[in-house]
Amino acid sequence: MSVLTLYKRQITVARVYDIPVRIDLRWFVVFGLSVWLIAVNLAHGGMWVGSFTLRAVGDLTAWMLAVTTTLGLFLSVFGHELSHALMARAEGIEIEEIVLHPFGGLARMRKEPESPRAEFRIAIAGPAASFLFAVVAFVLLLPVVRLGYEAAAGVLMLLAAGNLLLAIFNLFPGYPLDGGRVLRAIIWGRSGNIREATRMAGVCGMLIAAILIIFGVYMCFAPNFRAYFMGFWSVLVGLFLFDAAYSVVKHTRRQVQNVVSEAMSSPFSIEPDLLISQFIDSILPLHRQVAFPVARQQQLHGILSLEDLKSLPREKWHLTKAGEVMRPIAPRFFVEPNATLDYARELMKRNGIGSVAVVGKNGELVGFLQNGTFKKKKR
Ligand SMILES: [Zn+2]
Repeated sequence: MSVLTLYKRQITVARVYDIPVRIDLRWFVVFGLSVWLIAVNLAHGGMWVGSFTLRAVGDLTAWMLAVTTTLGLFLSVFGHELSHALMARAEGIEIEEIVLHPFGGLARMRKEPESPRAEFRIAIAGPAASFLFAVVAFVLLLPVVRLGYEAAAGVLMLLAAGNLLLAIFNLFPGYPLDGGRVLRAIIWGRSGNIREATRMAGVCGMLIAAILIIFGVYMCFAPNFRAYFMGFWSVLVGLFLFDAAYSVVKHTRRQVQNVVSEAMSSPFSIEPDLLISQFIDSILPLHRQVAFPVARQQQLHGILSLEDLKSLPREKWHLTKAGEVMRPIAPRFFVEPNATLDYARELMKRNGIGSVAVVGKNGELVGFLQNGTFKKKKR
Protein backbone atom coordinates (compact mmCIF):
# COMPACT_ATOMS: atom_id res chain seq x y z
CA MET A 1 0.00 0.00 0.00
CA SER A 2 1.56 3.27 -1.11
CA VAL A 3 1.57 6.48 0.87
CA LEU A 4 -0.98 7.91 -1.53
CA THR A 5 -3.55 5.22 -0.87
CA LEU A 6 -2.73 4.83 2.81
CA TYR A 7 -4.63 7.95 3.83
CA LYS A 8 -7.75 6.61 2.14
CA ARG A 9 -7.69 3.43 4.16
CA GLN A 10 -10.79 3.27 6.29
CA ILE A 11 -11.16 2.01 9.83
CA THR A 12 -14.45 0.82 11.26
CA VAL A 13 -14.82 2.54 14.64
CA ALA A 14 -18.35 1.59 15.62
CA ARG A 15 -21.58 -0.07 14.63
CA VAL A 16 -24.74 1.91 15.29
CA TYR A 17 -28.17 0.48 14.46
CA ASP A 18 -26.16 -2.21 12.65
CA ILE A 19 -24.59 0.41 10.39
CA PRO A 20 -20.77 0.38 10.27
CA VAL A 21 -19.22 3.76 11.05
CA ARG A 22 -15.92 4.33 9.29
CA ILE A 23 -13.24 7.00 9.37
CA ASP A 24 -10.14 7.40 7.27
CA LEU A 25 -6.67 8.47 8.39
CA ARG A 26 -7.12 12.06 7.24
CA TRP A 27 -9.77 12.33 9.91
CA PHE A 28 -7.12 12.10 12.67
CA VAL A 29 -5.20 14.99 11.10
CA VAL A 30 -8.29 17.19 11.11
CA PHE A 31 -9.18 16.08 14.63
CA GLY A 32 -5.71 17.01 15.87
CA LEU A 33 -5.77 20.33 14.03
CA SER A 34 -9.15 21.20 15.52
CA VAL A 35 -8.04 20.33 19.07
CA TRP A 36 -4.87 22.38 18.66
CA LEU A 37 -6.67 25.44 17.28
CA ILE A 38 -9.31 25.49 20.00
CA ALA A 39 -6.77 24.83 22.78
CA VAL A 40 -4.41 27.60 21.67
CA ASN A 41 -7.27 30.06 21.37
CA LEU A 42 -8.70 29.13 24.76
CA ALA A 43 -5.31 29.40 26.46
CA HIS A 44 -4.77 32.87 25.06
CA GLY A 45 -8.28 34.09 25.75
CA GLY A 46 -8.82 34.82 22.11
CA MET A 47 -11.94 32.75 21.86
CA TRP A 48 -15.09 34.61 21.13
CA VAL A 49 -18.48 33.55 19.89
CA GLY A 50 -20.77 36.40 18.96
CA SER A 51 -20.40 39.15 21.57
CA PHE A 52 -19.26 36.68 24.21
CA THR A 53 -15.53 36.57 24.94
CA LEU A 54 -13.92 33.83 27.00
CA ARG A 55 -11.23 34.63 29.51
CA ALA A 56 -7.96 32.75 29.12
CA VAL A 57 -7.83 29.41 30.95
CA GLY A 58 -4.94 27.26 32.13
CA ASP A 59 -3.15 25.02 29.62
CA LEU A 60 -4.51 21.71 30.91
CA THR A 61 -8.07 23.02 31.06
CA ALA A 62 -7.69 24.47 27.56
CA TRP A 63 -6.60 21.12 26.09
CA MET A 64 -9.31 19.19 27.89
CA LEU A 65 -11.97 21.61 26.70
CA ALA A 66 -10.55 21.49 23.18
CA VAL A 67 -10.77 17.69 23.05
CA THR A 68 -14.32 17.77 24.47
CA THR A 69 -15.44 20.39 21.95
CA THR A 70 -13.85 18.61 18.99
CA LEU A 71 -15.39 15.29 20.02
CA GLY A 72 -18.73 17.08 20.37
CA LEU A 73 -18.39 18.56 16.89
CA PHE A 74 -17.58 15.20 15.33
CA LEU A 75 -20.46 13.58 17.23
CA SER A 76 -22.64 16.33 15.77
CA VAL A 77 -21.54 15.42 12.25
CA PHE A 78 -22.20 11.78 13.06
CA GLY A 79 -25.68 12.63 14.42
CA HIS A 80 -26.40 14.50 11.20
CA GLU A 81 -25.46 11.48 9.09
CA LEU A 82 -27.29 9.06 11.37
CA SER A 83 -30.42 11.14 10.92
CA HIS A 84 -30.10 10.75 7.10
CA ALA A 85 -29.50 7.03 7.58
CA LEU A 86 -32.50 6.39 9.82
CA MET A 87 -34.80 8.37 7.53
CA ALA A 88 -33.49 6.39 4.55
CA ARG A 89 -34.22 3.18 6.42
CA ALA A 90 -37.74 4.42 7.13
CA GLU A 91 -38.07 4.91 3.36
CA GLY A 92 -36.98 1.34 2.77
CA ILE A 93 -33.37 2.03 1.78
CA GLU A 94 -30.61 0.17 3.59
CA ILE A 95 -27.42 2.02 4.51
CA GLU A 96 -24.11 0.51 3.48
CA GLU A 97 -22.00 2.60 5.87
CA ILE A 98 -21.52 5.99 7.48
CA VAL A 99 -18.18 7.55 6.60
CA LEU A 100 -16.75 10.49 8.50
CA HIS A 101 -14.23 12.37 6.40
CA PRO A 102 -12.41 15.70 6.96
CA PHE A 103 -15.15 17.74 5.29
CA GLY A 104 -18.07 16.17 7.10
CA GLY A 105 -19.73 12.84 6.59
CA LEU A 106 -21.61 10.62 4.25
CA ALA A 107 -24.35 8.06 4.80
CA ARG A 108 -23.89 5.74 1.83
CA MET A 109 -27.21 4.35 0.64
CA ARG A 110 -27.49 0.99 -1.15
CA LYS A 111 -29.75 2.50 -3.81
CA GLU A 112 -31.16 5.84 -4.85
CA PRO A 113 -34.51 7.01 -3.43
CA GLU A 114 -37.39 5.94 -5.61
CA SER A 115 -39.51 9.06 -5.38
CA PRO A 116 -38.93 12.81 -5.02
CA ARG A 117 -40.79 12.61 -1.72
CA ALA A 118 -38.39 10.02 -0.29
CA GLU A 119 -35.40 11.98 -1.60
CA PHE A 120 -36.68 15.16 0.03
CA ARG A 121 -37.27 13.51 3.41
CA ILE A 122 -33.88 11.81 3.52
CA ALA A 123 -32.09 15.02 2.48
CA ILE A 124 -33.84 17.30 4.97
CA ALA A 125 -33.38 14.89 7.92
CA GLY A 126 -29.69 15.79 8.30
CA PRO A 127 -29.95 19.59 8.55
CA ALA A 128 -33.07 19.18 10.72
CA ALA A 129 -31.03 17.13 13.21
CA SER A 130 -28.16 19.66 13.17
CA PHE A 131 -30.62 22.47 13.78
CA LEU A 132 -32.11 20.54 16.69
CA PHE A 133 -28.63 19.93 18.20
CA ALA A 134 -27.91 23.67 17.95
CA VAL A 135 -31.14 24.50 19.78
CA VAL A 136 -30.39 21.94 22.52
CA ALA A 137 -26.86 23.32 23.02
CA PHE A 138 -28.24 26.84 23.17
CA VAL A 139 -30.95 25.93 25.68
CA LEU A 140 -28.35 24.21 27.93
CA LEU A 141 -26.17 27.29 27.65
CA LEU A 142 -28.53 29.56 29.61
CA PRO A 143 -28.36 27.79 33.02
CA VAL A 144 -24.62 27.10 32.54
CA VAL A 145 -23.89 30.81 32.05
CA ARG A 146 -26.10 31.72 35.02
CA LEU A 147 -24.16 29.29 37.22
CA GLY A 148 -20.91 30.85 36.09
CA TYR A 149 -19.32 27.79 34.39
CA GLU A 150 -17.60 29.90 31.80
CA ALA A 151 -15.51 27.14 30.22
CA ALA A 152 -18.49 24.81 29.82
CA ALA A 153 -20.41 27.73 28.35
CA GLY A 154 -17.66 28.16 25.77
CA VAL A 155 -17.92 24.50 24.71
CA LEU A 156 -21.70 24.71 24.42
CA MET A 157 -21.47 27.91 22.40
CA LEU A 158 -19.03 26.36 19.98
CA LEU A 159 -21.29 23.33 19.63
CA ALA A 160 -24.36 25.50 19.07
CA ALA A 161 -22.50 27.61 16.49
CA GLY A 162 -20.97 24.53 14.84
CA ASN A 163 -24.30 22.75 14.46
CA LEU A 164 -26.03 25.86 13.19
CA LEU A 165 -23.26 26.29 10.63
CA LEU A 166 -23.55 22.63 9.65
CA ALA A 167 -27.31 22.97 9.12
CA ILE A 168 -27.03 26.21 7.12
CA PHE A 169 -24.05 25.17 5.02
CA ASN A 170 -25.64 21.85 4.11
CA LEU A 171 -28.79 23.63 2.99
CA PHE A 172 -26.94 25.52 0.23
CA PRO A 173 -28.84 24.45 -2.87
CA GLY A 174 -26.04 22.65 -4.71
CA TYR A 175 -25.77 18.91 -5.26
CA PRO A 176 -24.34 16.84 -3.54
CA LEU A 177 -25.06 19.00 -0.47
CA ASP A 178 -28.36 18.27 1.27
CA GLY A 179 -29.86 21.50 -0.08
CA GLY A 180 -28.88 20.32 -3.56
CA ARG A 181 -30.71 17.06 -2.94
CA VAL A 182 -33.76 19.02 -1.83
CA LEU A 183 -33.48 21.09 -5.03
CA ARG A 184 -33.14 17.90 -7.08
CA ALA A 185 -36.22 16.42 -5.40
CA ILE A 186 -38.23 19.56 -6.22
CA ILE A 187 -37.15 19.67 -9.90
CA TRP A 188 -37.61 15.91 -10.16
CA GLY A 189 -41.11 16.16 -8.68
CA ARG A 190 -42.09 18.90 -11.11
CA SER A 191 -40.53 17.55 -14.30
CA GLY A 192 -40.54 13.81 -13.62
CA ASN A 193 -37.03 13.66 -15.08
CA ILE A 194 -34.45 12.67 -12.48
CA ARG A 195 -31.51 12.86 -14.85
CA GLU A 196 -32.24 16.47 -15.77
CA ALA A 197 -32.94 17.28 -12.09
CA THR A 198 -29.59 15.77 -11.08
CA ARG A 199 -27.78 17.70 -13.78
CA MET A 200 -29.30 21.04 -12.78
CA ALA A 201 -28.69 20.48 -9.06
CA GLY A 202 -25.11 19.45 -9.89
CA VAL A 203 -24.49 22.63 -11.89
CA CYS A 204 -25.74 24.63 -8.87
CA GLY A 205 -23.27 22.65 -6.75
CA MET A 206 -20.41 23.65 -9.07
CA LEU A 207 -21.48 27.30 -8.84
CA ILE A 208 -21.58 27.25 -5.04
CA ALA A 209 -18.19 25.51 -4.98
CA ALA A 210 -16.74 28.22 -7.24
CA ILE A 211 -18.13 30.93 -4.93
CA LEU A 212 -16.53 29.19 -1.91
CA ILE A 213 -13.16 29.08 -3.67
CA ILE A 214 -13.30 32.74 -4.73
CA PHE A 215 -14.47 33.77 -1.26
CA GLY A 216 -11.64 31.75 0.31
CA VAL A 217 -8.99 33.38 -1.87
CA TYR A 218 -10.50 36.78 -1.04
CA MET A 219 -10.29 36.05 2.70
CA CYS A 220 -6.61 35.22 2.35
CA PHE A 221 -5.56 38.24 0.31
CA ALA A 222 -8.01 41.08 0.93
CA PRO A 223 -6.53 43.96 2.96
CA ASN A 224 -7.79 44.26 6.56
CA PHE A 225 -9.30 40.80 6.29
CA ARG A 226 -6.49 38.30 6.47
CA ALA A 227 -8.28 35.21 7.73
CA TYR A 228 -5.81 32.68 6.34
CA PHE A 229 -7.16 29.62 8.03
CA MET A 230 -10.81 30.31 7.20
CA GLY A 231 -9.85 31.24 3.66
CA PHE A 232 -7.75 28.14 3.15
CA TRP A 233 -10.51 25.96 4.57
CA SER A 234 -13.10 27.58 2.33
CA VAL A 235 -10.90 26.90 -0.73
CA LEU A 236 -10.41 23.26 0.32
CA VAL A 237 -14.13 22.66 0.88
CA GLY A 238 -14.87 24.45 -2.40
CA LEU A 239 -12.46 22.21 -4.33
CA PHE A 240 -13.87 19.11 -2.70
CA LEU A 241 -17.44 20.14 -3.50
CA PHE A 242 -16.56 21.15 -7.06
CA ASP A 243 -14.98 17.78 -7.74
CA ALA A 244 -18.03 15.92 -6.42
CA ALA A 245 -20.55 18.12 -8.27
CA TYR A 246 -18.57 17.97 -11.50
CA SER A 247 -18.42 14.19 -11.49
CA VAL A 248 -22.19 14.05 -10.93
CA VAL A 249 -22.83 16.39 -13.86
CA LYS A 250 -20.38 14.51 -16.08
CA HIS A 251 -22.05 11.25 -15.13
CA THR A 252 -25.51 12.43 -16.18
CA ARG A 253 -24.11 13.64 -19.49
CA ARG A 254 -22.36 10.38 -20.20
CA GLN A 255 -25.45 8.37 -19.46
CA VAL A 256 -27.30 10.19 -22.23
CA GLN A 257 -24.74 8.94 -24.72
CA ASN A 258 -24.40 5.42 -23.40
CA VAL A 259 -24.07 3.02 -26.26
CA VAL A 260 -24.43 -0.73 -26.50
CA SER A 261 -20.72 -1.45 -27.01
CA GLU A 262 -19.94 0.01 -23.55
CA ALA A 263 -22.29 -2.35 -21.77
CA MET A 264 -22.29 -5.59 -23.76
CA SER A 265 -20.59 -8.75 -22.63
CA SER A 266 -18.29 -10.73 -24.89
CA PRO A 267 -20.23 -13.04 -27.17
CA PHE A 268 -20.77 -16.60 -26.09
CA SER A 269 -22.69 -18.61 -28.64
CA ILE A 270 -23.77 -22.16 -29.24
CA GLU A 271 -23.68 -24.13 -32.50
CA PRO A 272 -26.94 -24.81 -34.34
CA ASP A 273 -26.10 -28.56 -34.28
CA LEU A 274 -25.78 -28.72 -30.50
CA LEU A 275 -28.25 -31.16 -28.93
CA ILE A 276 -30.55 -29.66 -26.31
CA SER A 277 -29.57 -32.44 -23.85
CA GLN A 278 -25.91 -31.43 -24.19
CA PHE A 279 -26.84 -27.80 -23.85
CA ILE A 280 -28.74 -28.41 -20.63
CA ASP A 281 -26.07 -30.70 -19.14
CA SER A 282 -22.89 -28.88 -19.97
CA ILE A 283 -23.57 -25.29 -21.04
CA LEU A 284 -26.50 -24.02 -19.03
CA PRO A 285 -24.92 -24.69 -15.60
CA LEU A 286 -21.97 -22.47 -16.50
CA HIS A 287 -23.80 -19.48 -17.97
CA ARG A 288 -26.39 -17.48 -16.12
CA GLN A 289 -28.31 -16.36 -19.17
CA VAL A 290 -31.94 -16.67 -20.19
CA ALA A 291 -31.15 -16.61 -23.91
CA PHE A 292 -28.19 -17.71 -26.03
CA PRO A 293 -27.09 -16.57 -29.47
CA VAL A 294 -26.91 -19.46 -31.91
CA ALA A 295 -24.06 -18.90 -34.35
CA ARG A 296 -21.70 -20.72 -36.64
CA GLN A 297 -18.31 -19.20 -37.39
CA GLN A 298 -19.41 -15.96 -35.74
CA GLN A 299 -22.43 -15.63 -38.04
CA LEU A 300 -25.65 -15.25 -36.07
CA HIS A 301 -28.31 -17.84 -36.93
CA GLY A 302 -30.85 -17.19 -34.21
CA ILE A 303 -31.53 -16.97 -30.49
CA LEU A 304 -32.27 -19.88 -28.17
CA SER A 305 -34.52 -18.80 -25.32
CA LEU A 306 -34.95 -20.87 -22.15
CA GLU A 307 -38.60 -19.85 -22.20
CA ASP A 308 -39.03 -21.74 -25.48
CA LEU A 309 -37.37 -24.86 -24.09
CA LYS A 310 -40.03 -25.19 -21.40
CA SER A 311 -42.52 -26.46 -23.99
CA LEU A 312 -40.07 -29.09 -25.23
CA PRO A 313 -40.69 -32.46 -23.47
CA ARG A 314 -37.70 -33.86 -21.64
CA GLU A 315 -37.66 -37.08 -23.66
CA LYS A 316 -37.03 -35.09 -26.82
CA TRP A 317 -33.99 -33.23 -25.45
CA HIS A 318 -31.49 -35.69 -26.87
CA LEU A 319 -33.20 -35.72 -30.30
CA THR A 320 -33.52 -31.98 -30.82
CA LYS A 321 -30.84 -29.57 -32.03
CA ALA A 322 -30.56 -25.95 -30.96
CA GLY A 323 -31.10 -24.85 -34.56
CA GLU A 324 -34.53 -26.50 -34.57
CA VAL A 325 -35.98 -24.76 -31.53
CA MET A 326 -34.19 -21.40 -31.71
CA ARG A 327 -35.98 -18.28 -32.77
CA PRO A 328 -34.84 -17.43 -36.26
CA ILE A 329 -33.00 -14.21 -36.67
CA ALA A 330 -35.23 -11.16 -36.81
CA PRO A 331 -34.53 -7.42 -36.43
CA ARG A 332 -35.95 -7.36 -32.92
CA PHE A 333 -33.25 -9.76 -31.69
CA PHE A 334 -30.13 -7.78 -32.54
CA VAL A 335 -28.62 -4.31 -32.44
CA GLU A 336 -25.47 -2.70 -33.74
CA PRO A 337 -22.65 -1.92 -31.29
CA ASN A 338 -23.15 1.85 -31.63
CA ALA A 339 -26.90 1.75 -30.93
CA THR A 340 -27.97 3.60 -27.79
CA LEU A 341 -28.68 1.63 -24.66
CA ASP A 342 -32.12 3.22 -24.52
CA TYR A 343 -32.96 1.64 -27.86
CA ALA A 344 -31.54 -1.73 -26.81
CA ARG A 345 -33.52 -1.63 -23.59
CA GLU A 346 -36.71 -0.90 -25.47
CA LEU A 347 -36.00 -3.81 -27.80
CA MET A 348 -35.33 -6.18 -24.90
CA LYS A 349 -38.58 -5.15 -23.29
CA ARG A 350 -40.58 -5.92 -26.43
CA ASN A 351 -38.89 -8.94 -28.00
CA GLY A 352 -39.90 -11.38 -25.26
CA ILE A 353 -36.44 -12.78 -24.50
CA GLY A 354 -35.03 -9.98 -22.33
CA SER A 355 -31.82 -9.83 -24.30
CA VAL A 356 -30.33 -8.88 -27.64
CA ALA A 357 -27.37 -10.06 -29.68
CA VAL A 358 -24.92 -7.39 -30.79
CA VAL A 359 -24.03 -7.80 -34.41
CA GLY A 360 -21.39 -6.00 -36.48
CA LYS A 361 -21.70 -4.62 -40.00
CA ASN A 362 -21.15 -7.97 -41.74
CA GLY A 363 -23.55 -9.93 -39.59
CA GLU A 364 -20.82 -11.21 -37.27
CA LEU A 365 -21.68 -11.68 -33.61
CA VAL A 366 -19.63 -9.24 -31.48
CA GLY A 367 -21.45 -9.17 -28.16
CA PHE A 368 -24.47 -9.96 -26.07
CA LEU A 369 -26.66 -7.82 -23.89
CA GLN A 370 -29.03 -9.11 -21.27
CA ASN A 371 -31.48 -7.24 -19.06
CA GLY A 372 -30.13 -6.58 -15.57
CA THR A 373 -26.54 -7.62 -16.26
CA PHE A 374 -25.37 -4.13 -17.09
CA LYS A 375 -25.51 -1.15 -14.76
CA LYS A 376 -28.99 0.26 -14.59
CA LYS A 377 -29.44 3.83 -15.61
CA LYS A 378 -30.76 6.24 -13.03
CA ARG A 379 -34.35 7.13 -13.57
ZN1 LIG B 1 -26.39 15.93 5.23
